[in-house]
Amino acid sequence: MNTDEGTDGERKNPQLEKRYPSVNCPYCWVENEIERAKNFNVVISQPPITKYSNDFPEVKTPFWRFWSAFKYPKGAREGSVKCKNEECGRDFYVGLFPYASGDSKNPKDLNYYLKLAKGETEIIKRKFLLEDILDRFCNLLHINYPIGCFLFILIPCILFWIFPVIAFGGLSKISHDYGFLSHFVLFVLMLIFLKHHCKVLKEALNYKKLPLLLSEQYKTSNLCREAEEAFKGWIFGHPFQRIAPPTLCGLFIAAVYLGWQIYYIINMANTFYETPYLGSYPFLYTSYMIAIISIPFWTLIWFIIGNIIWIFAATTAFIGLMTRYMPLKIDTLKEMGGIEIFGRMMLSSVYPMAAIGVGIPIMIIWSIGQEFYVLLICILLVLFFMFLIAFGFFYPLLPLHTNLKAAKEKERDKILSKLSLSRMIDEEEVNFKDDTHSHLLLFIYDKILSMREWPFKSDTLVKAGSSILVPFISLLINIVILFLKP
Ligand SMILES: [Zn+2]
Repeated sequence: MNTDEGTDGERKNPQLEKRYPSVNCPYCWVENEIERAKNFNVVISQPPITKYSNDFPEVKTPFWRFWSAFKYPKGAREGSVKCKNEECGRDFYVGLFPYASGDSKNPKDLNYYLKLAKGETEIIKRKFLLEDILDRFCNLLHINYPIGCFLFILIPCILFWIFPVIAFGGLSKISHDYGFLSHFVLFVLMLIFLKHHCKVLKEALNYKKLPLLLSEQYKTSNLCREAEEAFKGWIFGHPFQRIAPPTLCGLFIAAVYLGWQIYYIINMANTFYETPYLGSYPFLYTSYMIAIISIPFWTLIWFIIGNIIWIFAATTAFIGLMTRYMPLKIDTLKEMGGIEIFGRMMLSSVYPMAAIGVGIPIMIIWSIGQEFYVLLICILLVLFFMFLIAFGFFYPLLPLHTNLKAAKEKERDKILSKLSLSRMIDEEEVNFKDDTHSHLLLFIYDKILSMREWPFKSDTLVKAGSSILVPFISLLINIVILFLKP
């Protein structure tokens, strides 16, 4: 009755009676029978991104893993299988699902992935809310996305900040507000960087192109398409999810801001009651009205910041898991072992965070206060932010460094032993063939020695290093301006 694990190989051999359903190993494509899969309709295999138990426990989604988005149906199991192919012998992930793909007992997102695994549906191009709105905005105006990002910030800024400020007689406030001008530039930059990073990530998260040790058959299979799409789903949200994690994070941060702003406005309003003449303090009244009218603009900004924080954290976490648990294909003859794509992904993820980091001291010093303890909190916050960016950049790259180093040493030793062997032959009889052979070995040896032990060039390191440092530089500049101010 079980037909769901069908591969072409099986259909060609109908006589081959099998006791258990089988699934292909992602690393060597050898079929592995899964004893436990007998009562399951769909069996999928994936390269794992975490440790799974051999006992195949039932899948339960704890409430805090909201990025998983869907509850698995009762009875779904997942676990780890050791490939029976002795040359391979790797552990891989197997998911066992009780209902057929498309069964209404499965949540929509799970049905989508199961259908993908069986080649029954096409890939849905997913976008989270902010990305979708920005794309529609750019398409509507027929502009490219850097200009789109600029207008996307400028229009609400004029409507909900610049107009009201001018209307309440504060034109000189805008023209002298250096903090606001720098913030405006930073807001545009962080949106451009976010959009750019999403583009880099979506292009790079392709198991066919990533330097992973997967079998060629797996890479062209539907199982691989499913694994790839599920991986993207954790970062960008699953296609049928009502509120994707980036949006959820954006809404959460926007709600925190709203709470704070409402508290601030109520506090301000309370001071009005001290005088019977509303508006008798023109400055206070102006600030009060501007604080209310500017809410949509600042909510948008905090919403964007929330999106950025999610995408940054998710990139670090999931690429970190990928580089820790998936075996890599390292080519010691290439300059960076052929795995520089990971360095590129991580670099593009730190830029939007750096833009936020630069804004922190400007916001705290010029909008909140200039007392000593505020400065102290500001310094701590900037240091914490720098640590976050550095951690986010290096966490996924550290296991790659270890792998590159090990691969380099192994290859180097192999060549060295061959070289000493060919030298021994040379000593007995001078042989032209052996001579070229040892020259070639020497050449390869040189090439391996020159391979970098990190998946990036020094210019990437400079870019990442400056991104980590710019919040601190911004802090110094703002403190200097503060003390130079008359
Ligand atoms: Zn295998």
